[in-house]
Amino acid sequence: MTEQYSYIQRKLFIGGEWVDPIDGELVPSINPATGAPWALTAFGGVKDIDRAVAAANEAMRGPWRTMPPSQRAGLIRKLGELLEANAPRLAELETRDNGRPLRETRANITAEAQWYYYFAGYADKMDGRVLEINPDVMAYTNRIPIGVVGAIVPWNAPTLVTTMKLAPALAAGCAMVIKVAEHTTVTTFELAKLIEEAGFPPGVVNIVPGYGQTAGAHLAGHPDVNKLSFTGEHRTAREIMRAGATNLKRVSFECGGKSPHIIFDDANMEQAINAVTHAGFMACGQSCALGSRILVQRSMYDRVVEEVQRRAKDVRVGDPMNETTHVGPQTHQAQYEKTLGYFDIGKAEGARLLAGGTAVSPSGLENGYFVSPTVFADVDPGMRIAQEEIFGPVVSMIPFETEDDAIEIANGVRYGLTAGLWTQDLGRAHRVSREIMAGTVWVNTYRILHPGLPYGGFKISGIGRENGPDALEAYTEPKSTMINLSGEYPYPYG
Ligand code: NAD
Repeated sequence: MTEQYSYIQRKLFIGGEWVDPIDGELVPSINPATGAPWALTAFGGVKDIDRAVAAANEAMRGPWRTMPPSQRAGLIRKLGELLEANAPRLAELETRDNGRPLRETRANITAEAQWYYYFAGYADKMDGRVLEINPDVMAYTNRIPIGVVGAIVPWNAPTLVTTMKLAPALAAGCAMVIKVAEHTTVTTFELAKLIEEAGFPPGVVNIVPGYGQTAGAHLAGHPDVNKLSFTGEHRTAREIMRAGATNLKRVSFECGGKSPHIIFDDANMEQAINAVTHAGFMACGQSCALGSRILVQRSMYDRVVEEVQRRAKDVRVGDPMNETTHVGPQTHQAQYEKTLGYFDIGKAEGARLLAGGTAVSPSGLENGYFVSPTVFADVDPGMRIAQEEIFGPVVSMIPFETEDDAIEIANGVRYGLTAGLWTQDLGRAHRVSREIMAGTVWVNTYRILHPGLPYGGFKISGIGRENGPDALEAYTEPKSTMINLSGEYPYPYG
């Protein structure tokens, strides 16, 4: 099927205006369900990043800096309302751009408005402390905006990831330059229109999609950017960290996971099996929180393996615009090839293939990047399929004997983003949750995200946290001011 540009955006959003790229270009975006170009959008180059960073710095000196926090809160809340009202439209665009099923993008983008509402509430509540150091010196602390933030965003959930960075940064009073991933630019341009409509002063938010090696790297190393907030691969995070060292930029990194999803033998089996199956295939497998390692206590292992195998075959792969589709295509060709490559790796490593393991060609979408939901059983925890983030709909099933074994296997990877566990034993839930090296643990549920709860990783899963007061602090610098009340400063050398 050929599809020619049903969405065109020739300009970047910089300094409150829509401008032609200086040294960027117009780049087609592929609809991963059809394999054909569907959108044409502006990418920025190095000079465009310079212009956006200059606009953001200008904004930090302008009315944004002196705007009363309650007014700032009003703008952020308005942006949330606009996002909520436009969620169905943005969801269709995001689904076309990255292939995630419409029913998921619609629910997600609607829920993302909550991030703006939550952080709007914080904008006028950033108070400090007062200390009386001695009768002659009074001191107070406050937090001031960190300044210009560079946000570097991946392709799997562009609106969510942008929102998780933008909402707290705006609440803190920062200005932002957002570089979204090369594969999925469309919804961020639409967000820019909502930002414009909400009435933010020029330059507070600047949208410059572009290639990682040019625009991204330039933003990461830019001397006039104070902080980088990055979501993506840990290898990229290292490059960004090196580039950001030029002016000791503050960094927040969210870098993926290899989450264990553990079923103990006392769990409610029906619910646990439903959850591990869903958590392994959600978001077409392209979620940092994917429950990609299913750990099952030995006495229940055969039953769970059989049930997950059966349920994997119920998962409908197909056109992501179709309301009944569960799993859409992989977002781009390189990810598609990477996922297929891991099918081969799993087979070569000797894991038992129970379901999937092949490319799929839904009728009428033969050129799309579809793969089948895949289940490997009897996986050794040391195998590559159990250690590396595949970012496709692939689960590895691993048996374990005792609680200690489960914890050891769960922690035996370089990642530490999220984990799930199923048990009806309250003590065990707390014990295991405490021992698991992950930023988030879900007990008898999976993948609830809330703007008020910190989200981020241990180990190579990242640095810092998104969401909640922790995120807000990461966009500010604490400051102490000490005041001499005595009116005297004795001459010390007399
Ligand atoms: P990626 O690291 O390849 O790219 C992410 C972003 O970095 C893109 O915008 C890219 O253009 C940019 N980039 C690439 N090279 C750069 C460089 N040298 N300097 C500056 N920017 C550069 O990641 P991806 O493939 O787009 O996304 C998938 C990864 O993101 C997975 O590992 C996934 O787990 C992770 N992720 C993590 C979370 C989380 O919250 N922990 C959420 C979503 C995705």
